[in-house]
Amino acid sequence: TAPEQRADSGTASHCPYCALQCGMSISGAGAVAPREFPANGGGLCQKGWTSAALLDSPARLTTPLIRTGGELREANWDDALDLVAERITDLQAAHGADSVAVFGGGGLTNEKSYLLGKFARVALGTSQIDYNGRFCMSSAAAAGTKAFGVDRGMPFPMTDLAQADVVVLVGANPAETMPPFLRHLRGAAAKGGLVVVDPRRSATAQQASLHLAPAPGTDLALALGVLHATVAEGLLDDDYVTRRTAGFDDAWRAAAAYWPEHVERITGVAAADQRRLAHLLARARNAYVLTARGAEQHATGVDTVSAWINVALAHGLPGRRGSGYGCLTGQGNGQGGREHGQKADQLPGYRKLTDPAAREHVARVWGVDPADLPGPGRSAAELLDALGEPGGPRALLVFGSNVVVSAPRSRRVADRLGSLDLLVTADLVLSETSAMADVVLPVTQWAEEDGTMTNLEGRVLLRRKAVDPPEGVRSDLDVLAGLARRLGQPEGRFPAHAETVFGELRAASAGGPADYAGVTYDRLRAGEALYWPVPHVEHSGTPRMFLDAFAHDDGRARFVSVVHTGPAERPDETFPLYATTGRVLQHYQSGAQTRAVPDLVGAVPEAYVEVHPDTAARAGVREGEQAVVESRRGRVTARVRCKPTLRPDVVFVPFHFPGAQRANLITNPALDPTSRMPEFKVCAARLVPVVES
Ligand code: SF4
Repeated sequence: TAPEQRADSGTASHCPYCALQCGMSISGAGAVAPREFPANGGGLCQKGWTSAALLDSPARLTTPLIRTGGELREANWDDALDLVAERITDLQAAHGADSVAVFGGGGLTNEKSYLLGKFARVALGTSQIDYNGRFCMSSAAAAGTKAFGVDRGMPFPMTDLAQADVVVLVGANPAETMPPFLRHLRGAAAKGGLVVVDPRRSATAQQASLHLAPAPGTDLALALGVLHATVAEGLLDDDYVTRRTAGFDDAWRAAAAYWPEHVERITGVAAADQRRLAHLLARARNAYVLTARGAEQHATGVDTVSAWINVALAHGLPGRRGSGYGCLTGQGNGQGGREHGQKADQLPGYRKLTDPAAREHVARVWGVDPADLPGPGRSAAELLDALGEPGGPRALLVFGSNVVVSAPRSRRVADRLGSLDLLVTADLVLSETSAMADVVLPVTQWAEEDGTMTNLEGRVLLRRKAVDPPEGVRSDLDVLAGLARRLGQPEGRFPAHAETVFGELRAASAGGPADYAGVTYDRLRAGEALYWPVPHVEHSGTPRMFLDAFAHDDGRARFVSVVHTGPAERPDETFPLYATTGRVLQHYQSGAQTRAVPDLVGAVPEAYVEVHPDTAARAGVREGEQAVVESRRGRVTARVRCKPTLRPDVVFVPFHFPGAQRANLITNPALDPTSRMPEFKVCAARLVPVVES
């Protein structure tokens, strides 16, 4: 690999957006260009190409803001940080440590994720911390841990995919979410082995050799049908199942009732296509099953991912060189962000907060008594729901997240934020959440600071500072260090220098499942491709996990016994359609960043509702007109786009837009019992014309 050094063409770095973390170089003037890197092979999507516009965006915040007399007014840093520290101290004195909560983000660097978790548990002493990754990949993380003993989204380098005969994408649309990733799927596509499972004929599904379009919320049943076909047609990899797994008998007992004709009635996917997929997987020399948000964002998200992992195990794929199961993580640091302690139940190194040995180890690194570390707190959706309620937090500090747009049932979220005694945000622009805050702290972004990210294959990457930040902004690390000092933490306990923080992170993660002990900035600067675990500095990393054994004590992967129960809310006479949500190529997450980029806004300026022409006609709405999608929780207003390939029982709304276009005004906050993932992907809805008042 080429050394990651500053070249004439600019500073070698990575994209500010998604988990592919495409390689790019950034000039001193802030211009970006793609660079050769395995993830993107020299390509960028439109978001990456236009990302330089973020650096000098007129929407950029450059001074702290304090709400005075109902208005956000400019303030200086000392006043803003003093005020936040004073209000926190008063609230905690009156109502206890848990009266102050913290909400993080999967786009924060590893250093920020780590320091935020430490700040919550040490400087605030609160158990109330979680982050928006709970809305992103928590179901796959839980299912991966159940099956393999540890969760690394993609436990193999993504370049391995190029050799595959078959790749099954379940609920993934990389043609829009991460277009350069498609280069890794070309081999399978050329061999007729690209299979897409998606209720919509997405841009990715259009390139598939086989597109299976189950009704929303029935992907789990489809996996059971494929498992049934695998066993019934004699395609099970008996030798692998016997040698490398446990739990098959129970999983099969649960799946035995799901013969493909029965599953066809549940899902709408032809029994012949279920069998075809089972045969494709059995015939392939190298095959992969990859899941993403479409499988995960359900009240049964963990079971749905487990069902697809069962299919992969039945065909002997995980832990075999050239084959496997993986999760396509979405957010820029979706993988690293979940490893370093901003999750409600975890400590750095992917350790459990309830594990006494983990508490002991991390407390020693932090220089505190393990008995003083709080226990697990509320998950993201539950935390937001409890804000301002009796016994709930009365203050919230938000870093790297725009929950007013991205959380389910967003009108309720806005109500809860409005009821707080104190809302503080650290932000680049005045997002919808920051617009409600009492104090807004302007922070640096990707090209203006050093920091590491861990991409979707578990490779640790260095994003290097390429340009100076605008006058007046500070890094999130600075903000945390400044607040910690004001809250009485000893000098030096909260460093603001990224490489120093990373050194601490290495020590805190050492010996844990996500072990970064051997990763150093110098090794990353030298261009080493380091995939965790990297237990010491002589260790070359672990590009491929599980080749010899899985991480359970007996070394075996687990089949998990699951059955289909369906979505928490189904269409009925009043709400006869399934509403589902997702992404478009030009926007990222809540759109807080991409809606500040003129080219991206020019390409997709607003939300739309995608609907089958017959469904539109029945509802009395027409192409190009505004229409309303209504659920039991609220209504979204968006322009109609007729799409003949969409199932007539489905409407689709992208979720990147604010105000009355917020897809999350209608989504169902029903949670998966294990991952606490909300059911973003399906709710009952109706389509109606806009009524002129
Ligand atoms: Fe690459 Fe994702 Fe950035 Fe697009 S948004 S350039 S796919 S990292």
